This record gives sequence, structure tokens and C-alpha cells, in this order.
Amino acid sequence: MKIYNTLSGRKEDFVPIEEGKVRMYVCGPTVYNLIHIGNARPMIVFDTVRRYLTHKGYDVNFVSNFTDVDDKIIKKAVEEGVDASVISERYIEECKKDMAGMNVQPATTHPKATEEIDGMIEMIRTLIDKGYAYVAKDGTVYFRTRQFKGYGKLSHKNIDDLQGGMRSLLVTGEDQKEDPLDFVLWKPKKEGEPYWESPWCDGRPGWHIECSVMSRKYLGEQIDIHAGGEDLIFPHHENEIAQSEAANGKEFSKYWMHNAFLNIDNKKMSKSLGNFKTVRDISESYDLQVLRFFMLSAHYRSPLNFSAALMESTKNSLERILTCAKNLNYGIENAVKDDLSAEEEKQLTEAKRFVEQFDAAMDDDFNTADAITAIFDLVKFINTNTSEESSRAYLSGLKEELVMLTDICGLIVDRKEESLDEKVEALIAERQAARKNKDFARADAIREELTQMGIILEDTREGVKWHRAN
Ligand code: AMP
Ligand code: ZN
Repeated sequence: MKIYNTLSGRKEDFVPIEEGKVRMYVCGPTVYNLIHIGNARPMIVFDTVRRYLTHKGYDVNFVSNFTDVDDKIIKKAVEEGVDASVISERYIEECKKDMAGMNVQPATTHPKATEEIDGMIEMIRTLIDKGYAYVAKDGTVYFRTRQFKGYGKLSHKNIDDLQGGMRSLLVTGEDQKEDPLDFVLWKPKKEGEPYWESPWCDGRPGWHIECSVMSRKYLGEQIDIHAGGEDLIFPHHENEIAQSEAANGKEFSKYWMHNAFLNIDNKKMSKSLGNFKTVRDISESYDLQVLRFFMLSAHYRSPLNFSAALMESTKNSLERILTCAKNLNYGIENAVKDDLSAEEEKQLTEAKRFVEQFDAAMDDDFNTADAITAIFDLVKFINTNTSEESSRAYLSGLKEELVMLTDICGLIVDRKEESLDEKVEALIAERQAARKNKDFARADAIREELTQMGIILEDTREGVKWHRAN
């Protein structure tokens, strides 16, 4: 299996540090808003990488953080007149809902920056002790970038070119730095902002230190794969390498993977252009599987353009796979023969070539675009090589293969129809939540919807009971 490693700038054979195990860290979102479809790209891409590694038999320890202390979170908290944690907790919950909708598996651990401050203080202390960091007069702690000899190795930047570029960025308040290249590890509190005590000043961490600390705590000093969007290569990941390798004295991550950006109607997505789309917006018109399928239709290192027309055509292509699965289910239920014929046995063996085709694409730096072609080839094979005469065993064998491949992509082709009871229970739970939040209009609307469905609610001492109207 080959992975393109940003560090070396080429595809390399994947050899994990410990046989059979993969330690993987993906930089997660800053939680101050609903996630946008750009944020969804790394989530879907690296969830698929994780699923494929698991399919190959690796035991994957997958860590992804939530950045829950940041200027944007604080700004929103001030606007709403609430604590910063109210904002971050709200958007962590919303993010988890979107992830579930896109069938992104929860990480093995989802650490939050604000819960890891002690570890950050400890690493900063080590960096100071080792001469890689220093405390300025106002208590700010800076990383002494030039002291770290490998600086620039990930982004392939020459440190002296950076020096020229950064000089113009020198702004007031930064003049306590020894060198414009130095970056913040810890900064003093400002009025009204959340802060923690530290040996240097009451304050909060710089952005980069959290990932070095959480990665070491949950995965160890050396990890196999570190990933995120390509905007993180510099400075975020470059700085993470400097911090981790300076503190631990070991290579940090063996492989660095970065997804290219998602554009919208061939333009950069941004709030000022007003072309910003959240995952929640998409969920109003589509099953989020369609968004997932769309993201995987391109290789993760190619820029991807989002448009309404492309979503429509993606929905139609996905429909072809779903219809194939539905037809197989129908055939399995209604087959007249149980056992494989000799000819069917041959066909089933023949169909294994699509698994090989799929694996070959994924082994080549997770080429999901080609892997999806293999799935379509399998669908075509199924459509032309099955009939009412097909046996149950044959159809089941084909379905198993289709489900295995789509499952690696995180696509559910065999979605169980929600039973009426489940739907009623879900509505009742939603009504309870609405009442708790004093959203009585919503609670009444749900009761009305249930009445329309012929469901009668009874508020009893033991909770809400329901029965069908006669
Ligand atoms: P942020 O919340 O800005 O730290 O971003 C969380 C993740 O989303 C990072 O891995 C970013 O690189 C990634 N990301 C942000 N915008 C885009 C985009 N337009 N396309 C692809 N990835 C993005
Ligand atoms: Zn990070």
C-alpha cells in the first residue's frame, strides 16, 4: 500500500511503526459555528482512510481533536453574552450530529484543548528547559524557531525565505520576539477571556501546542499518520513538528497526509463572498450520503469543485448503486432456488476481480475515484448477470461483495427502513426535549403530528406512554 507523504513529496510504501497497528491523528475543527462543507472533506476522506486500513486488518487508533478555545469562539461568546464553553459545547454537539449524518465514525478519542491544558504547560516547560522556548517580558512564551534545525521540512520552505516573508507581518505586540519567525506557545489573558494559570502568566495556549500534546498523550511520541487539510501544512503542522520533535527528541509522524481544498462554483468558499455552505444546509435537500459520495468521487489530493448540478448528478449515480442493492434484496427474498449452480459459482469467482480492482485503487494512495469505478463495474456485472432464475446463495454472495466495498467508503446501501414504532419513539423523545427547552410550540406541533399518525399520547407519572387510536 502506498501513501503520498507530504514530508518526502512522493508516494511511499506504508510500513507502520508497530506491526498490525496504526496510530493516526487528524486535526479537527475549531468549534464556533456549524461545520461547512470544506471541513467535511477531511472528515470524510480520513474516515475512509481509517475504514480501509481497518479492512486491511490494521488495528487503528484514531484521534481527532476539537479546538475549543480560540479567538473566533471567544468573539461569538461575547456577541451572545455567554461563556465560551457554551459556544464550543453547542458546536461540538452539532458537529457530532453532522458527522453521524455523513456516517463518519466517532474517533477512538476526541480530546478537547481546554481539557488538556496541564499537558500543554508541561510540554512548554520542557521546551523552555531544552532552550527551544523563552518567556518574554509580558509572560508570553515563544518557540525559538531557528533553534529547531528541521524547520521547513514539511512545507519545503527555506527558513531564510520565511524570514523575509514574515518580517512584514511583524505587528505591535510581537516586538518582544527574539526573531519574527518565533511563534506563540502561551499568551497572556485579555480582559473577559477564558484563562488558565501557568508558571509564566495567567493566559491561554497558542493554537499549535494542543495537537503536539494530545497526539503524544493518546498515541505516543511517534505516530504513523498525521493528517488534515492542506492549509494546515504551514504553519500549523510545521510548528507541530518543531514542538514535538524538539520536546521528544524523536521523529513525530512517519506519514503526513493532506487533502486539497473544496471550492464552490469554482470559487474559494468564504463568508465575505456569501457562498458559504454548511453541512446542515446540504442536509435540508439531500441525504448526507450524497455529500459523502461526492467527496469520494475525486482523489483527496485533487481540488474539488462543489456545485448544485454536481450534487444532483452525484445523487443520481448513487441511486444506481442503491437500486442495485434493493434489487438484490428483492431477489434474495423471492428466489425460487436456494443453492448455487456451477455456472453461478464461476460467476461469483469472476466477480472477485472487482474487489481486486477496488483494493488496487485504494492501495494507490487511497484513490477513491478509481475505487468507486470498481463499485460501478460490479453494479454493471450484477445487473447483467442476475435474473429471476438466480439462486439465493448467488445473490447473497454478490450482495455481500457490494456491501463490503460500499461499507469501506462509508456508504450504507442497505439502510433499514425505520419502523413506525421507532419513528414514534423518536418523535416522543424530541417532544420531551422541546418541552424541557420550553419550546412549547414545537412540542405541540409534534403532538399534532403524532395525532395525525393515529398515535395517542398519555403523560403519566412514569413518563409518556402511547397507544394507537382505534
Ligand atoms: P478549521 O476549523 O478551519 O481548523 O478546519 C478544520 C479542517 O477543515 C482542517 O483540516 C482544514 O484544513 C479543513 N478545511 C477547511 N476549509 C476547507 C476547504 N474549503 N476544503 C477542504 N478542507 C478544508
Ligand atoms: Zn493540529
